[in-house]
Amino acid sequence: MAVPAAQPISCLSPEQALLALGSSPAGLGSLEANLRLAHFGPNCLPPQRHRPLILRLGDQLTHFMALLLWAAGAMAIVAGTPSLGWAIWGVVLINGLFSFWQDFQAERTLAALTAVLPQHVRVWRQGLMTQLPSDALVPGDLLELEAGDQVPADCRVIEASALSLNASLLTGEALPLARGSAALAQQRNPSEAANLLPAGTCVAAGRCQALVYATGAETEFAQVAHLSAGIERSPSTLEVQVGRIVRTVTGIALSLGAIAFLAGITLVGVPPLESLVFSIGIIVANVPEGLLPTVTLVLALAVKRMARERALVRRLSAVETLGCVSVICTDKTGTLTANAMTLQDTWGSDRPLLLLMASLCCNASLNVGDPTETALLQGAQRNGIDPDQERQRLPRLQELPFDSARRLMSVLLHWQNDRRWPLPCTWMQCSKGAPVELLERCSHWWHAGVMTPLTAPERDLVHAANNVMARQGYRVLAIACRPCDQPQIEEQQLVLMGLVGLYDPPRPGVHQAITACHKAGIKVTMVTGDYGLTAEAIARQIGLLDTPAHAQHDPVRVINGSDLARLSDAQLRQLLKFRSRLVFARMAPEQKLRLVKSYKALGEVVAVTGDGVNDAPALRAADVGIAMGRSGTDVAREAADIVLVDDNFATIISAVRHGRGVYQNIRRFLLYILASNVAEVAPFFTMLVLRIPAALTVLQILAVDLGTDLLPALGLGAEPPETTVMEGLPRRRDQPLLDRQLLEQAYLFFGLLEGILAMLGYGLTWWSHGLGLAQLQLVAPDLLHHRATAALLMIQHQASAVALGSIVCAQVGTALACRGRSRRRPHLFLLIGISLELVAFCALQGWPVLAQTFQMAPIPSQLWWWLLLCIPAPLLADQIRIAWRSYRHGPSQRSLA
Ligand code: ADP
Ligand code: MG
Repeated sequence: MAVPAAQPISCLSPEQALLALGSSPAGLGSLEANLRLAHFGPNCLPPQRHRPLILRLGDQLTHFMALLLWAAGAMAIVAGTPSLGWAIWGVVLINGLFSFWQDFQAERTLAALTAVLPQHVRVWRQGLMTQLPSDALVPGDLLELEAGDQVPADCRVIEASALSLNASLLTGEALPLARGSAALAQQRNPSEAANLLPAGTCVAAGRCQALVYATGAETEFAQVAHLSAGIERSPSTLEVQVGRIVRTVTGIALSLGAIAFLAGITLVGVPPLESLVFSIGIIVANVPEGLLPTVTLVLALAVKRMARERALVRRLSAVETLGCVSVICTDKTGTLTANAMTLQDTWGSDRPLLLLMASLCCNASLNVGDPTETALLQGAQRNGIDPDQERQRLPRLQELPFDSARRLMSVLLHWQNDRRWPLPCTWMQCSKGAPVELLERCSHWWHAGVMTPLTAPERDLVHAANNVMARQGYRVLAIACRPCDQPQIEEQQLVLMGLVGLYDPPRPGVHQAITACHKAGIKVTMVTGDYGLTAEAIARQIGLLDTPAHAQHDPVRVINGSDLARLSDAQLRQLLKFRSRLVFARMAPEQKLRLVKSYKALGEVVAVTGDGVNDAPALRAADVGIAMGRSGTDVAREAADIVLVDDNFATIISAVRHGRGVYQNIRRFLLYILASNVAEVAPFFTMLVLRIPAALTVLQILAVDLGTDLLPALGLGAEPPETTVMEGLPRRRDQPLLDRQLLEQAYLFFGLLEGILAMLGYGLTWWSHGLGLAQLQLVAPDLLHHRATAALLMIQHQASAVALGSIVCAQVGTALACRGRSRRRPHLFLLIGISLELVAFCALQGWPVLAQTFQMAPIPSQLWWWLLLCIPAPLLADQIRIAWRSYRHGPSQRSLA
């Protein structure tokens, strides 16, 4: 809710605006802030309304395949087999409920993640700068905003330097708009008023103090801002691919059904109605109705696992792209290093003055803000300087903010003849920045208490000192000043005070992660704004430059931004293609974009990390954009597919592992489901070919289908990635999910095996009663036309039970063979699914009520051994197959990569 004011806030002066909102330059008091929070409510938007659950359940029961099955059930009832009709409808219902549950789980998992990453804002409260989650803001709060920050509420600018705003989210206009604090003569639309920052816009450059005047649902663009909240769920390629597979398999099922119908009538002489029922059964058994929701849930589960390992996925499709990543372009500071900078060394003739000027040229406070600056402030404090006190004593008049193209930052101070600078001086400009860049703007240096002109030998001295520090991996900043007669910032004719060396140690675990990348066939390229020697030293420390044994001559390449500018696109591509372990230093953000584009042109799948405002284009251009959760700007996070909560490079690798794992798992459960389909139609085709009775009734087939498709399939999909998943090369992105290898394995290997086992079990039962193939062919017509004696019927029911049992047991074996070999324990869903399947089967054949409905008889004790054999059979066969393949192709071939 907005605080009412007599005049529009944009027409007040900054002081009046503060007054109107009952605030002050020190911000609100905490008591007042709490009262306002209770009154206005948190600064967040009302939750989005979801589609009602009942409608979503309806969706699952009315999609194309469900409709097909409803119709099939109705046909079965019309055909005079009501129990089959009901059973089919039961299948639709159970499948629908299960899909609904999966969908609901997926949604809930993804929704929970949005809550994990609250936006943080720097707020003045009671004269102290504190960091608060943005929903704690109330009207009257005074904020510090800088380049890259998203504006968290409707704000009025109170004080600004070089401020410009990106309002593209609201206006679609990408050009930055200048913003300042001056009062306007007349009221204007908030996105046009030159002193307002509407919620949802971003600070493009500069910094400011801004006063919150409306929060939450009261902000002008509450609705627009809402669009960007939450995880985007555009269908991922995997889901599209699976959708296509579902359609293909449904087509196959329909044709199989048609063939069965015709062949049953013409070849075997089955009455048309019964033949219809049979073909319906075949269709139902083969339609993969539960596939798509399972894929979605599997993706969501992977997202949840990644979140547990501190990688938040913002776009579901990023999960699978991660599995194909072949190049990672990574930042250095904060990602490969710990972002825990400390002052290690200084170079210059007056250390206290050097540190004093350095700390006056900072926007951070001792604990909050840019790590480079907090390190400087803490270093100064350790050397007896009180930064807060000094800032009060020498107030700042102007600022030229840091930007990563200039690599400098300057402030203008009211120096008031402070005697630590021996010459009389009213205004003093302090600058800090990258040494080479700053030195170019210096004409003198401060040496032994006097200002001395800088000549070539002295410049060489500074460069040498800079390089000595940089080679140790230090981030070096030069500090300079300019006593001035006019209160104006000019980054020319400066007096160099000296250098400071800050060390940011490599993160623990990064070295191993880099090694893992190299093993997984992923190139790691460092892209940093830092100095070449610093970057190289850090790259060495984390093993990025370790040469593998087989590459004898691959010299380290550190490429500077200026070198890169001289390379043509073709030359750059040559370089990227033939060299790995590259370090790009002093890169401008647009060069990062160029790098990403060049890698993509080479067909690589590129992951890029970024944190700054200017990184957004590169993050968007990348196949997987990765932003930093802690040090990153809101703009970068908004542009990214994935946000690293802990900014840690190693987290990227575990995310890649999950991305690869998901793909592998989905292939595994596809394999499993397709294999079971073969077993389900096997009895019918044996009936046609050998002219024996059908081993299974439609109802029995449906029972198997339901037992297979739900939990065991999900169990296979939901397993954590195998330990070996990072040992191979990245998968090519255009590799189809369902390729020949998988089809062969599913249909011709596991499927055929299951079918054969089922039919052998069936024959074995008859044989144990003394009837061979010839006799079986003789009794077939009697069984078909319901003229068989009770004794024969008993044997048929027994034989059906054994056939069904063989399939169930063989599927247990297949499921175990499909799952990864390097995992210790099967997934819970898989265990539950397998147990349920086995228990259900025992009940179906042993419990009289069920046995009668499903036309089965208890399996004679002398045949149980056969079923027990069916469990290990697929496992054993698979082992033999693998051994045979490695004998023929060499051991490198893996069964399911
Ligand atoms: P990166 O984060 O990749 O190291 P940046 O663009 O942040 O790159 O920094 C580039 C260079 O600018 C740094 O090497 C340093 O010399 C200088 N620099 C960084 N931060 C500041 C700052 N707050 N003030 C002045 N100079 C800075
Ligand atoms: Mg930086």
